[in-house]
Amino acid sequence: HADGLVDAVARAMEHADGVRRLGVRANADTPGDAARARRFGAEGIGLCRTEHMFLGDRRQLVEAMILAVTDAERDRALGALLPLQRRDFAGILEAMDGLPVTIRLLDPPLHEFLPDRTELAVRLAAAEAHGSPPSAHDAELLDAVNRMHEENPMLGLRGVRLGLVAPGLVAMQVRAIAEAVVERRRAGGDPRAEIMVPLIDTVEELRLVREEVERVLADVSAESGMGVECPIGTMIELPRAALTAGRIAEEARFFSFGTNDLTQTTWGFSRDDVEAAFFSAYLDKGIFKVSPFETIDREGVGRLVEIAVAEGRAARPGLKIGVCGEHGGDPESVHFFHSAGLDYVSCSPFRVPVARLEAGRAALPGTETGDSR
Ligand code: PEP
Ligand code: MG
Repeated sequence: HADGLVDAVARAMEHADGVRRLGVRANADTPGDAARARRFGAEGIGLCRTEHMFLGDRRQLVEAMILAVTDAERDRALGALLPLQRRDFAGILEAMDGLPVTIRLLDPPLHEFLPDRTELAVRLAAAEAHGSPPSAHDAELLDAVNRMHEENPMLGLRGVRLGLVAPGLVAMQVRAIAEAVVERRRAGGDPRAEIMVPLIDTVEELRLVREEVERVLADVSAESGMGVECPIGTMIELPRAALTAGRIAEEARFFSFGTNDLTQTTWGFSRDDVEAAFFSAYLDKGIFKVSPFETIDREGVGRLVEIAVAEGRAARPGLKIGVCGEHGGDPESVHFFHSAGLDYVSCSPFRVPVARLEAGRAALPGTETGDSR
């Protein structure tokens, strides 16, 4: 029975792959996840989140880089992060050799990276209570953390905003990507890195970052004697970006919808508080039947997606468009993305087989309108 089932699944997959128009990529940010995604049939990485690479042992470097009490301290931190990032990217590019890997520039919720200011304040107060001199470093750190404190970090210094205000950060990440590409090519590989800018509101943000990215790619090309070209694209994850997608497409080689943030900002619901009491009350009352964070809300978020696809492609025919929010692996949402004309969905490695099957079902005659269930 088990063998029969395995064969049937394999046949269904083969059939789905034969008919589907949507590509299926995976969200992965380690070589292990990338390799697993590939075994599940992923045709590339649609989202490599780089913020996970800045935790653990590297936290202090990140603190030094972001808080940068002195320029020298910041440059040291960036210099120490560069080879670590190069190794991160080389490993992922190796695991996905020959397939596109969309690497997103750092998009941290800042509060997860900065030291806890209560803890710092307590430490300083304790030193004072013991009559010992307060640590100058702690005092400077507390000062810097206080200056950067935000009441709404998810609406604050995230994504491209951080890249634009933290000197050297974008350049360090892009150099690490470009050098990883050079390293992989020298090793005989076929690395296909794409660079993605997060949380764009306006085309001006993208233009500034794109210019910096291109400068660094040109530098590494000159140093290595290898032309390093990485397509530069952007996330569309804020309503304003969706509504001005035509202008944004002038600066972007590809779009990827971040439907997690797009849902949060379109509905005005915190994505981190969906357990909040009102949310289940809304489900109970039938205001929505399923959480809009799980299945795409066609009337609101879906409309923004359709507008952005139409505007983006009108400005740049053939613009490549994907989605990398959680919805990319949700069966009903996959049908919607097919109807909306996206090129690919990107989801967690374990959801890749389901996305392949649903993308196949969505392409069957009679299901063009999307919802076949
Ligand atoms: C998104 O917002 O949908 C997205 C993919 O980015 P993140 O979840 O990392 O904010
Ligand atoms: Mg996002």
